[in-house]
Amino acid sequence: MRNVLVTLVAVSILVLGPAVESASAQNARALLQAADSAVGASKVNSIVYTGTGRISYLGQNFTTADDLPRVDMKNWSQTIDYGSKSAKEEMVRVQGNNSPRGGGAGFPITGEQRSTTLVSGNYAWNLNAQGQPQAQNDQAEMRQFMIWVTPHGFIKAALADPNATVTDREFIGAGRTLHVAGFTTMGKYRATGEFNAQNLLERVVTWIPNPVMGDMQVEIRYTDWRDIGNGIKAPFHTHMHQGDHPLVRGMNYMDVQASDVKANVESASLTVPDAVRTAAAPRVNIQTTKLADGVWLIAGGSHNSLAVEFKDFAAIIEAPLDDARSNAVIAETKRLIPGKQIRYVVNTHHHWDHAGGLRTAYAEGATIVTNEMNKNFYERVMLVPQPRSLSPDRLSQFPFATTGPGPGKLETYRERHAITDGDQSIISYHVEGFNHAGDMAMVYLPKSKILISADMGPPAAGTPVADVSPNSVALYNNVKRLKLDVSQHVPIHGNPSSNSDFERTVGPAAARARPASPEAP
Ligand SMILES: [Zn+2]
Repeated sequence: MRNVLVTLVAVSILVLGPAVESASAQNARALLQAADSAVGASKVNSIVYTGTGRISYLGQNFTTADDLPRVDMKNWSQTIDYGSKSAKEEMVRVQGNNSPRGGGAGFPITGEQRSTTLVSGNYAWNLNAQGQPQAQNDQAEMRQFMIWVTPHGFIKAALADPNATVTDREFIGAGRTLHVAGFTTMGKYRATGEFNAQNLLERVVTWIPNPVMGDMQVEIRYTDWRDIGNGIKAPFHTHMHQGDHPLVRGMNYMDVQASDVKANVESASLTVPDAVRTAAAPRVNIQTTKLADGVWLIAGGSHNSLAVEFKDFAAIIEAPLDDARSNAVIAETKRLIPGKQIRYVVNTHHHWDHAGGLRTAYAEGATIVTNEMNKNFYERVMLVPQPRSLSPDRLSQFPFATTGPGPGKLETYRERHAITDGDQSIISYHVEGFNHAGDMAMVYLPKSKILISADMGPPAAGTPVADVSPNSVALYNNVKRLKLDVSQHVPIHGNPSSNSDFERTVGPAAARARPASPEAP
């Protein structure tokens, strides 16, 4: 009897065993194995794509409603070594015939702009112009994840997830049904991939963390699949969007056409430089300088903020980067101006490096002052208190009711906005005739004659006329147009400088850039 029982138990385990893997998991496995045989993904240990194309500057569009500013890539290559989780992407960017409107480091490009970005496991770095490694270890997780949404990486990562799923999705109108596989990797990143009737991966949709967008959508389309030998196929055309949102528009990020794709190349893995291995983790650094009565510069990072004291409240000018920076700026403002509520945060423009901390100031209860062009995007996309799964921030962790009456106010303007208590004032002026951002403000403090500007210089004193940027000339022209009495310039990037230096350096460049008057001979 006992033996019979043991046998029965054993038999039921045998019968039930395979059923432990659900029908859906079996379907997913079957699809992924078919996809693997179709393109030889598990035979690909490393791969190198070489080609040309175009790439955009994320979060640097001219207005929130515009597509991202783009440049051409005259050379592009991507080397991936799956086993060591390493990847190297190299590109040479040129302006080409692309519009100069919009922002981004070094945009619009004069000559060539080179970039090399690398990841190996938990280490990431860039190469600077001298070819020296610059640690970017806080980027390692994201760069590693991007390996798992490449054409072969997707299949490898999905096969490695026992909970991968598949479902059929009918594209009404297109008359097609695609198999949609979904997987989770690295503990939290999710991706879905659409496979066609030939089991080729046509499109990947995924999410990456971003201070402005939250869980930010990334869409990658793979087409032009070709045989590259040894039963391996690779897509020669890749088209990528980043930051698409139903309330905004499609944001073109990258488009590359490969001229050559090679699998299983020699020495695709990377050696992590010692300087990267031992680099200290980046930390939020705050350095405060008093500029005038009731006005402090909060520097110490790549972007400055200012704290301004009023009779009954405090205000912050600029909340850049992200939640961590913004929390530190808020804490410093409270230390400098104790016992007064931070009632306003004044934003120079919508570019993500300048707006990435606005949510945090908003959660603090500050009213955001910005150009009316930004209202739709700020209210309906950037400032929503809904959860963010990949990188929760203060507003998503401590949401407030969107029905009010709590925090959550925007004050917008077209030309000019003033905050004043009759003594101290902060005046935002719209900057005209400026290619960098259509909503750009310069911010004037009449009491101390301080002018705050973002991404407009001012250049170092004595910069040759030919090297003065059009951005600084735009600043000069707008100061003259508004007849502002300025004594000190305080840029969001860099150090304060005097107006007399500004006049001496930018004045001649502005005179040269001015179109000749029609009456002139
Ligand atoms: Zn900008």
